[in-house]
Amino acid sequence: MKKFYITTPLYYVNSAPHIGHSYTNIACDTLARYKRLMGYEVLFVTGTDEHGQKIKDVAESKAMEPKAFVDSVAPIFKDLWKRLDISYDDFIRTTEKRHEDVVKDTLNILYKKGDLYEGEYSGWYCTPCESFWTKAQLVDDLCPDCKRKVEEIKEKNFFFRLSKYQNWLIDYINSHEDFIKPAIRKNEMLSFLKNPLNDLCISRPASRLSWGIDIPFSKDHVTYVWFDALINYISVCGYKDNPEKFKKFWPADIHMIGKDILRPHTVYWPIMLHAIGLEPPMTVFAHGWWKMGGDKMSKSKGNVVDPRDMVSRFGVDAYRFFLLKEVQFGVDGSFSEEALIARINSDLANDLGNLLHRSLTMVEKYFAEFVPERRDLKYSDEITKALIDKACGLDSEIKKGMDSIDFSYGLNSIWDLINMANKFIEQKAPWKLAKGNKQDDLKDMMYDLCEILRMVSIALMPFMPDTSVKMAGQLGLGDIEKRSFSDLKWGLLKPGTKINKGTPLFPRIEVN
Ligand SMILES: [Zn+2]
Repeated sequence: MKKFYITTPLYYVNSAPHIGHSYTNIACDTLARYKRLMGYEVLFVTGTDEHGQKIKDVAESKAMEPKAFVDSVAPIFKDLWKRLDISYDDFIRTTEKRHEDVVKDTLNILYKKGDLYEGEYSGWYCTPCESFWTKAQLVDDLCPDCKRKVEEIKEKNFFFRLSKYQNWLIDYINSHEDFIKPAIRKNEMLSFLKNPLNDLCISRPASRLSWGIDIPFSKDHVTYVWFDALINYISVCGYKDNPEKFKKFWPADIHMIGKDILRPHTVYWPIMLHAIGLEPPMTVFAHGWWKMGGDKMSKSKGNVVDPRDMVSRFGVDAYRFFLLKEVQFGVDGSFSEEALIARINSDLANDLGNLLHRSLTMVEKYFAEFVPERRDLKYSDEITKALIDKACGLDSEIKKGMDSIDFSYGLNSIWDLINMANKFIEQKAPWKLAKGNKQDDLKDMMYDLCEILRMVSIALMPFMPDTSVKMAGQLGLGDIEKRSFSDLKWGLLKPGTKINKGTPLFPRIEVN
């Protein structure tokens, strides 16, 4: 059995989940569901990143212990994933023992190897970003990332010899076409690597920050949060506690990330892995951001989209559909409620919902709720031939979209078929066939419509799981659990199937 291991980043629990978190998880969920339907053994992992200064600060501001604080936030993420139908297989928290053990092991291996060394660090520290900067990197004496005040700190710390591996990494990126995607991100990293790579400070003095994983060879230090968090990708798949599982799933097929965390994932992480003798992941895919109109979303601007609010008002599948369809995966998107409502009314209510509802209404009216039998599975005219050819090509079109991690491509191919089917009804005018007593022609076309809807319901399974199940229910299809992408073949619908026409799946949203 082929395996597929996909991860989301571990989300930092200093604030509530927003649209960006939900976007990454919906994308990963869609790929994970698709691979399962293709017969792969899938490991889909998400989780939370729970150490570091910012967590300690937020906990203090709430008069809580850090552990009590992170315990209170992790369930908020789990609850959102449930509401968004995220079918993850494992949820890892960096405060779990199974993770902490692997972090300590990794540190020990690197220390013994001489890839970690102790040095004096003097630099300018930005607390919100948890970043040290050199004097030259500061902009107007402020943090170059967040433009906030920095303070000068001198302390003993441990450093990881990134510089030693710089040339290896450049060669690796150049010789592994799929390692960093999309190409624009690969070029961004190659250009970053034209400058000498500084060694990475991977510890924090315990006197300043106690909320981190202990460094096994120094009681005065804890582990830098990024170094700790990245290691989750191997701790969760059995690096230390389940060698058989690890052998099966590592290297990961895809680390899905937002473009803002490209550097830790494509510079620190592959070097860490290489230094401990492991292969880097096959692909790190960095997607774009959702902006509000043209603006970056931020708490201070008050324009942050809360996924829970969107789901409770518009439904989980409408939200998933919008994020996956609106832009090509990888580039930035512009979010607005108007755009979401427009998509619901046009693509979901008018196109998909209408095709399903009027087809079932005709089956009910002309054939007493039973799918009629076709004369044979051949087509009688050019319009029908074109429609069936389109349906038969759905399988490979979706594969093409998924293989290139382009969700809108896959959805567009499904909608091309839906639109063709709606046009087919207009062209064939079944009401005329019924009046003209062309019973066989009517049977053929009703079978074709139901068969297309069956195929659409399967094709939608990765993208809109709830809608897919509801469609299958209305079409009277049994054993929904057993469906797979191998059922995307023309002619599998059994004549005589009794439909259950319900209410339209996507009522239009009236805008005042
Ligand atoms: Zn900063």
